[in-house]
Amino acid sequence: KLPKVVIIGRPNVGKSTLFNRLVGKRLALVDDQPGVTRDRRMGEAGLRGLEFEAVDTAGWENEDDASLPGRMRAQTQVSLKDADAALFVYDSRAGLTPLDEEIAQWLREQQVPVVLIANKAEGNAGQSGILEGYALGLGDPVPISAEHGEGVADIYNALSPHI
Ligand code: GDP
Ligand code: MG
Repeated sequence: KLPKVVIIGRPNVGKSTLFNRLVGKRLALVDDQPGVTRDRRMGEAGLRGLEFEAVDTAGWENEDDASLPGRMRAQTQVSLKDADAALFVYDSRAGLTPLDEEIAQWLREQQVPVVLIANKAEGNAGQSGILEGYALGLGDPVPISAEHGEGVADIYNALSPHI
């Protein structure tokens, strides 16, 4: 059985784009509008020979239930239950938001190893947000551009000790 790695983050940070990169197929729906990933999607991912089951989530995207416990109940908590590691993605262009910090705090309380991913880090606009990630207490952010495929292979170094 492959190790399970769950991709977590607030809407629109690029979780599904990263999922598609890792799985190498367009299994996840990518959209400019938050909340388009209605279901959890899973696929076999390969990263420099490291094989795992990647899970794309949308657990913070239910706007009908705005309370944090409600959002946690939605998919993400279920996904994380038997996960071997989590990739916590934030938007390096937008910088950290209160929701990123809420999710980070929740993740720090879980028993799962977390790899912090600063996505959309390409170009000058993505640079300052990389530094902000250090404040989350989840280790060094791995800067990537899921859209352009940059830095994705660097996730290997942070992830491979855990799975
Ligand atoms: P999700 O809601 O977290 O699953 O985010 P999506 O994968 O659906 O992406 C949301 C938006 O961000 C889409 O318009 C993507 O094209 C865009 N996006 C994803 N990755 C990157 C990236 O590395 N750089 C930039 N500039 N945009 C990205
Ligand atoms: Mg998505």
